[in-house]
Amino acid sequence: MHYNWHMKTDKDISTAGRTAGQTAGRTADQAAGNPDDIRFMQFALEQAKLAASIGEVPIGAVVVCDGMLVSSAHNRREIDADPAAHAEFAALQQASRTLGRWRLTGCTVYVTLEPCLMCAGLMHQARIDRCVFGAFDPKAGALGTLYQVNSDPRLNHSFAVTPGICEQECSQLLSSFFAVLRANKANEKNGATP
Ligand SMILES: [Zn+2]
Repeated sequence: MHYNWHMKTDKDISTAGRTAGQTAGRTADQAAGNPDDIRFMQFALEQAKLAASIGEVPIGAVVVCDGMLVSSAHNRREIDADPAAHAEFAALQQASRTLGRWRLTGCTVYVTLEPCLMCAGLMHQARIDRCVFGAFDPKAGALGTLYQVNSDPRLNHSFAVTPGICEQECSQLLSSFFAVLRANKANEKNGATP
């Protein structure tokens, strides 16, 4: 069974991508982390913990519209056998269903890990206002680390990004999850050897 999220290691999901992300995404008014951002990120973290509880890589997301929580979701890639079952992708779809519109103007997406190209693409398609994420993803991050989908001048919509909110907590959750997986794998291996 492969739970590796882009073959992540502890190093990858903690601070390795920080410089790139900071340079690309952080602005002066975002750096401090306002109380609402921290509060909503905690809801996303709850979702991430739910994912871990069913053996999924712990990534969670919520969508907030005009200060109201409209949807929440977590990664379900393994259980749904679906490459698109990322937390923020599902949260965006659910937000559209709840609000009855595809255009998610006025919405902010909170997600515990920097979105990939697919999810950043959907954020662009949905015309969101802002994305707030926790941990940087040096191997797939599309909102500052590898790509700047939110601020590409060739695209017809740009949106704000606030990176690194509750970063430690978000990356710690992933690190612990992978540490347990590695330990289990090692135990299996040892058990199988005579
Ligand atoms: Zn994604």
